[in-house]
Amino acid sequence: MTKIDQIETMILDIPTIRGHVLSMATMRTQTAVLVRIKYSDGSEGIGEGTTIGGLSYGAESPEGIQSAIDTYITPLLLGREADNVNGAIQLIDKLVKGNRIAKTAVEIALWDGLGKRLGVPVSQLFGGAVHQKLPVAWTLASGNSDTDIAEAQEMIETRRHNIFKLKIGKRSVREDVTHVARIKQAVGDAASVRVDVNTAWSLQEARWGLKGLQDAGCELVEQPVAARYRRAMAELTKGYEIAVMADEALNGPEDALAAVRENCADVFAVKVSQSGGLKRASEVIAIGQAAGLGLYGGTMLETGLGTAAALQLFATIETLHWGTEFFGPLLLTDGILAEPLIYRDFCVEVPSGPGIGVTLDPDKITAFRRCAQRSMKAVAG
Ligand SMILES: [Mg+2]
Repeated sequence: MTKIDQIETMILDIPTIRGHVLSMATMRTQTAVLVRIKYSDGSEGIGEGTTIGGLSYGAESPEGIQSAIDTYITPLLLGREADNVNGAIQLIDKLVKGNRIAKTAVEIALWDGLGKRLGVPVSQLFGGAVHQKLPVAWTLASGNSDTDIAEAQEMIETRRHNIFKLKIGKRSVREDVTHVARIKQAVGDAASVRVDVNTAWSLQEARWGLKGLQDAGCELVEQPVAARYRRAMAELTKGYEIAVMADEALNGPEDALAAVRENCADVFAVKVSQSGGLKRASEVIAIGQAAGLGLYGGTMLETGLGTAAALQLFATIETLHWGTEFFGPLLLTDGILAEPLIYRDFCVEVPSGPGIGVTLDPDKITAFRRCAQRSMKAVAG
């Protein structure tokens, strides 16, 4: 019987290609927590747990994710049977509350190890891939309309993206609507334009915002109000033609069920790490499917590793009405994979190798790994 021998964690700090302006933070670096599980037969599995903007987006920080794994999750798993991924997930869920991103990083490494030992991609462990590639959106978040328009036009010309998500909510509603209208006018029918407010609006602001966005030709608005305002989300979902998507409101299958019960979304942005892993994300997807909602593959701006893991799951889904935003690796100045993911013809290709289908480049890991001396600076900065 193959056993779990060792679980190693590390934090990587990778610069972004430009400032990524969100309603709650401007990212110039992305921080990823990597997990490497070593098994008794010499095999390995790798996983990633990543969040956005330190503690400004969600309740878990990179440092907290690492600590939760090292202190609480690892001791539960050492010496356990490697192939029993469900058993490990159930044990962790029983003894560790919350901490979904930490659980995700470990769970991906368990699936990756199992897939690599069996010589099959993780998609096969979820019943088999029905897609070889998935549509991928790009986020325009430079903070400047002209820069965003130039970026969008270049993406369309090079056939890299024709779906654009605009990060708004930092400026006034009126300014944001003008910004979105300018971009939609510039790209016309060549691209789909959507927005993510990242919970920045009150219900009153959202009413004006959705009306203006709809008139501007914007197709979808993501999480306009705070995650806990389900009644406001329900009112907005019912009140406008523009699709309302839940993101921050979806932390696992229980939230998905509540969102369906209270009619507070047209679309689910399903994020692997926000759901608590591939298995829990598959349950969120199932609830969305059963309710007849639209589905979208969401990202926490993971590196190629976490993105490859997400691709393994979403490749098994019959219909992703709104595509994906699995562009995380493209926002980073450098990748950490031995072979980067392939982006072309407005899609990202699903890696076909065993496990999650990717391996790490050890030199890149060394280059971006946070060491003790750098950690204080990184946290302070
Ligand atoms: Mg979002």
